[in-house]
Amino acid sequence: MYLVADINVDICAQTSCRLCTQYCPEANTIQYNEQAGKEKGYKYGSAYVAVDRCKGCAQCVWVCDNMAKHQAIKMIMIDQLPKAAITDNITYGEKTTTALLASPMVG
Ligand code: SF4
Ligand code: SF4
Repeated sequence: MYLVADINVDICAQTSCRLCTQYCPEANTIQYNEQAGKEKGYKYGSAYVAVDRCKGCAQCVWVCDNMAKHQAIKMIMIDQLPKAAITDNITYGEKTTTALLASPMVG
């Protein structure tokens, strides 16, 4: 298991800054979902991380904390993700992880 970035929708969806999406060095890894925040009653959508592409560099955490000043991103062990976002149909095939990936946001 390893660390990946996890975005708090309740914080991100109160802004529309999208800064992290411009600084992640991995292509198509931080994406933006217009519905993610609106489904929860917020004005904006939210950024989210395609965890199967995230390399765990934490650059997005620095950007959100220090440039955007929103503290919406934390590094988290992949098997501890409350809600996973994947880009393809990946089967991790292990105990709880499979259940966590059962209802992904697909970018
Ligand atoms: S920098 Fe932070 S607040 Fe801005 S879009 Fe990314 S996660 Fe959301
Ligand atoms: S930890 Fe690095 S690779 Fe992963 S989403 Fe953040 S900036 Fe991109």
